[in-house]
Amino acid sequence: MSLNIDNILKRVEKPARYIGGELNSAKKEMTEGMTRFCFAFPDTYEIGMSYLGMQILYHILNKEEDIFCERVFSPGLDMEQILRDEEIPLFTLETKTPICDMDFVGFTLQYELSFTNILNILDLSGIPLKREERDESCPIIIGGGPCAYNPEPLADIVDIFLIGDGEENLIQLFHEYQKSRHAGESREDFYKRAVKLQGVYVPKFYNPVYGENGLIERVDKLYEEAPDSVLRAIISDLDSVDFPVNPIVPFIETVHDRAVVETFRGCTRGCRFCQAGIIYRPVRERRTDLIEELAKKQLENTGHEELSLLSLSTSDYSQFEELATNLMNMCKKNNISLSLPSLRLDSFSFKVLEEIQGYKKSGLTFAPEAGSQRLRDVINKGITEENIYSSVEQALELGWKNIKLYFMNGLPTETFEDLDGIYEIASNIVDLNKKINGKGRFNVTVSVSNFVPKAHTPFQWMAQDSAEQFSEKHYYLKDKLRPIKGVTFNYHGTETSILEAVFARGDRRVSKVLIKAFELGCKFDGWTEHFKYDAWMQAFEETGVDKGFYTTRERNYDEILPWDIIDCGVTKEFLKKENEKAKKEETTQDCRKGCVGCGMNQHVTCRMEGING
Ligand code: SF4
Repeated sequence: MSLNIDNILKRVEKPARYIGGELNSAKKEMTEGMTRFCFAFPDTYEIGMSYLGMQILYHILNKEEDIFCERVFSPGLDMEQILRDEEIPLFTLETKTPICDMDFVGFTLQYELSFTNILNILDLSGIPLKREERDESCPIIIGGGPCAYNPEPLADIVDIFLIGDGEENLIQLFHEYQKSRHAGESREDFYKRAVKLQGVYVPKFYNPVYGENGLIERVDKLYEEAPDSVLRAIISDLDSVDFPVNPIVPFIETVHDRAVVETFRGCTRGCRFCQAGIIYRPVRERRTDLIEELAKKQLENTGHEELSLLSLSTSDYSQFEELATNLMNMCKKNNISLSLPSLRLDSFSFKVLEEIQGYKKSGLTFAPEAGSQRLRDVINKGITEENIYSSVEQALELGWKNIKLYFMNGLPTETFEDLDGIYEIASNIVDLNKKINGKGRFNVTVSVSNFVPKAHTPFQWMAQDSAEQFSEKHYYLKDKLRPIKGVTFNYHGTETSILEAVFARGDRRVSKVLIKAFELGCKFDGWTEHFKYDAWMQAFEETGVDKGFYTTRERNYDEILPWDIIDCGVTKEFLKKENEKAKKEETTQDCRKGCVGCGMNQHVTCRMEGING
């Protein structure tokens, strides 16, 4: 069934969010036995269309003759109202087919605060929220992406989690589905096939049992052949997988309207708070000539006027100087602007920035994360005071007028002396500018986010600060920084950070809170203007779930953690060792200087090991 939506489009603010048909979007002849998959992004079109992962999977899946990948995004509130009032089910952009008629709906789990939007998409599609309440007429609900590394808060909602790189295992899963259907099997039989694939977690085959103290006592397996732990799917060679050279070009402005090429996956630095630095190991680089070719083709096929590179840290690419020089030349020749995010600020990067920004110097960003060397060692940030000041000095000499500094509050072992360090860095930079440039327009922005302990990191056992502790630190910094002329201070709200922490380390019991909060009207929780803290608090109260159990409580090493079922490739032993080193304020070297034994090489060859040794 395909819906006619012409008359509702006239009544919404941004109809282009729903019409599909953009340049390079997929059109397919429907064939017998074709698997229909809807990629669901639980936020608006403008945000979802800027997400590279969707473009990659859309491209790869639609190359398969027997798979049709379509898209859906969270509708705007105006569209939602019309859909609800007129009882129109939510539909795909490509064919306007109701989502409930798909074989699979796959949500990308990028951020814990988008979880209520998942429920809203299901609800608007007429699909029951809980997997137990769905029958075989409903699509199979998939979840993937970084938040799937702790799948448990969504384990009562999602049918299958795909852990790790999705390029290969999504196709394998759909082919298993086709075989299963061909053999006339039940859905349960299909799940039994699916668990044999690497990276597939089917929560219905596991039942956590809780002790009186609220901790997980054991996890009972309900299907003997389901794996004891689910190893993530890993693409060992990025060059071997397809990358889109003809991504979809939206009709309307999105967050990032540009060509993007992923240069590498993974990071070797080992910051102890960072989940991405663990779950995407090891570093896997794309070849330089391939990156250049992909960039060129993408620009030609889309007409974009900007090119950007994507990775966790642009200048960690081993051939960065060669790549940046070649891309700069190509962009200059074709009048394309080049943007290189998250550069390590050394002299080559300044040369590049001078070249690509010229006199239009935007703000320069540094992320020391912590104010003192002691705390930077605890988190293994690998930046010294000298690194910060010598980079800032170069920036000031080259004419930058806006310096942005990113810090985190609530890091393990943080004291007020560490906060004084933030003040000192900001005030020293102001003084340095006076010395170099005299008086005149200059600004330092100090931005503070709140530490949220994440699963699969060395800090996964640590307590999060309470709301009161966070607030005290924010006010302390505000008072300290106020007298310095030229310093702007902003900080992240504590309420969303606490909620994020509940779901980042939650177990199956927190899904009750999620569903209740959704029933109380929560959605778009990551948007300040839509966030309903009181409704969330009511949801905790009514479901009897204590948020402190998940946030401010330190865990023991022998506690069964909800995400222990997921094997990200890095061993728990390594994470423990790193946590102990953090307590002793000891650092661990970047594994480009030599392996530090995280365990990843038991599963895949680490090609970047020791390249700077
Ligand atoms: S196994 Fe060694 S080289 Fe490979 S990612 Fe881990 S620490 Fe780095």
